[in-house]
Amino acid sequence: MTYIPLESIDEFKKTFRGTVITRSDDDYENARKVWNGMFDKYPSLIARCICTSDVIQSVNFARNQSQLIAVRGGGHNSAGKATCDDGIIIDLSLMRRVNVDVKNKTVRVDGGALLGDVDRETQLHGLAVSAGIVSHTGVGGLTLGGGFGWISRKYGLSVDNLVSAEVVTADGKLLQANVNENPDLFWAIRGGGGNFGIVTSFVFNCADIGTHVFSGLIVKKYENAKQYITFHSEYVRSLPDEMSVWMVVRKAPPLPFLPPEIHGQMVVIVPFVWLGEQSKGEKLIKPIRDQSESHGEFMGMTPWVDWQSGFDGLVEHGARNYWKSHQIKELNDKCIDQILRFADTLPSDECEIFIPHMEGAPSRVKGDATAFAHRDPPFVLNIHTRWRDQSDDERCISWAKDFHLSTEPFAQGVYVNFLSDEGDARVKDAYTENVWNRLVQLKNMYDPHNLFRLNQNIKPSI
Ligand SMILES: Cc1cc2nc3c(=O)[nH]c(=O)nc-3n(C[C@H](O)[C@H](O)[C@H](O)COP(=O)(O)OP(=O)(O)OC[C@H]3O[C@@H](n4cnc5c(N)ncnc54)[C@H](O)[C@@H]3O)c2cc1C
Repeated sequence: MTYIPLESIDEFKKTFRGTVITRSDDDYENARKVWNGMFDKYPSLIARCICTSDVIQSVNFARNQSQLIAVRGGGHNSAGKATCDDGIIIDLSLMRRVNVDVKNKTVRVDGGALLGDVDRETQLHGLAVSAGIVSHTGVGGLTLGGGFGWISRKYGLSVDNLVSAEVVTADGKLLQANVNENPDLFWAIRGGGGNFGIVTSFVFNCADIGTHVFSGLIVKKYENAKQYITFHSEYVRSLPDEMSVWMVVRKAPPLPFLPPEIHGQMVVIVPFVWLGEQSKGEKLIKPIRDQSESHGEFMGMTPWVDWQSGFDGLVEHGARNYWKSHQIKELNDKCIDQILRFADTLPSDECEIFIPHMEGAPSRVKGDATAFAHRDPPFVLNIHTRWRDQSDDERCISWAKDFHLSTEPFAQGVYVNFLSDEGDARVKDAYTENVWNRLVQLKNMYDPHNLFRLNQNIKPSI
């Protein structure tokens, strides 16, 4: 631990417009927390920025004081990368402005905004940004890793819709990154995570989706899980990009449309979003409804903002989480068998096996066009292990690791934002070799001393 002299903190405060929080402050306890309750860390100082100059001051201060830096966007990262013991958290959580340019259908978003902030503002004009599915996730971390959600099959990943970004680099400079200005930096931040600097604002293209989407959940009986998943693995791949159908194997939450006796029982939940006329969406979803018996369903034209926050309660802050993931080449018979083998031994009621379907617009972008490399695999297999009691850590983590290992033969790469702390070699799995080599070169250029290292780290080679 490198001690920060009190006089230096006082000096820093003089030019800082946000709030500087230290261990003796009342709001320290709250300010140090992140989404994943596994990470109970005690930073020396939290620099809660309100503007770009605060971010620059914080980077310069941390560098000059030889302090470890954690950058906090939404604080949602399951690997707990937004906090640290001792060092400095550069906290963007008060930088959440969202300004829509209705004429050009773009939106400028501050680096600490949450997805819900963006949805609420863009939806005033029937617009949306292609991003994730839980409204309290941060735009910052999500976008820098790639970003996908319900409308990505049609509109691409968040990085595919990024027009430009303002980046504070390790030497405290403010750079524009877009196709014309610092295009190499622009390439790197579209998948390379927070390795290259702190993004104080993003500009995205918006999609014109209207204010309501035909969406819903169909809850299938677990006794037919094998048949259903086998059908699903083929059927969803035949659907147009406007339709996204995902799958969640878990114990049923207390959804109001399910009979109470089903709550807590194993089920296969099939959520979907259709971007188009309801009648057409109903036709496409009918084979899923007909394939096997359901416990219940809920569907209709739903306000986008409501749909986007509909799952928030299932993943609220504070629980203990250990997530493992990979992209899946083929959801074949053997892979399904492994999924069901581990589904039979879920270590807690809140764990879920979450299988988004990705292919569509993202897979039509070349693998090295951005730093988000693994665009071909059709499915993602996310093992969301979630529990409450510390005494269950070992049991839950072992289950996740064993499950993950058993499905490795079907995997091709991993999405960097779903990595836990899995070591340097595993970070490389998020990239192809040529993308990784280019990222290392750019790290050498933009952050040669690895100031930004609390992330899925790309180490400089010099
Ligand atoms: C419940 C839940 C649901 C999720 N759903 C989705 C989903 O639907 N789609 C999807 O793609 N991903 C999803 N994710 C993964 C998500 O993309 C990552 O957790 C991401 O890291 C969250 O970003 P954040 O800003 O909230 O995280 P933080 O923990 O604040 O940051 C994560 C990393 O990004 C860096 N960072 C954050 N903001 C900035 C910034 N402005 N500039 C530079 N570096 C920054 C941090 O330093 C850290 O290394 C989900 C995660 C959770 C926990």
